[in-house]
Amino acid sequence: MRTWRRAVTETICGGPCRQHIRKADPTLEIHIQGLKRALVRCASCAGEPVPTDLPPLEERPANTIDPTYKPQRAPLFASVGTMATDWKARQSGERQPGEDG
Ligand SMILES: [Zn+2]
Repeated sequence: MRTWRRAVTETICGGPCRQHIRKADPTLEIHIQGLKRALVRCASCAGEPVPTDLPPLEERPANTIDPTYKPQRAPLFASVGTMATDWKARQSGERQPGEDG
């Protein structure tokens, strides 16, 4: 699996150029099954153009809560009100045949 992302920290290109990759530079991470660490390639060693829609590096300190985050809550009372009509209709003045004499 090959993933373009921006370098979170300064690193060294794992390709033939061995150049220094600065923080936030675009890097191609190549994930190979069986290898714990991804291979890192700089933009010139990647062999493919850097995606133009690669988002900028988000610097977010660990263990902080996103203030825009809102938990999804299921609507609780969406179906109340559909049950209460049937039994009332049965008790409202229906007569059994032959009651009146
Ligand atoms: Zn390189």
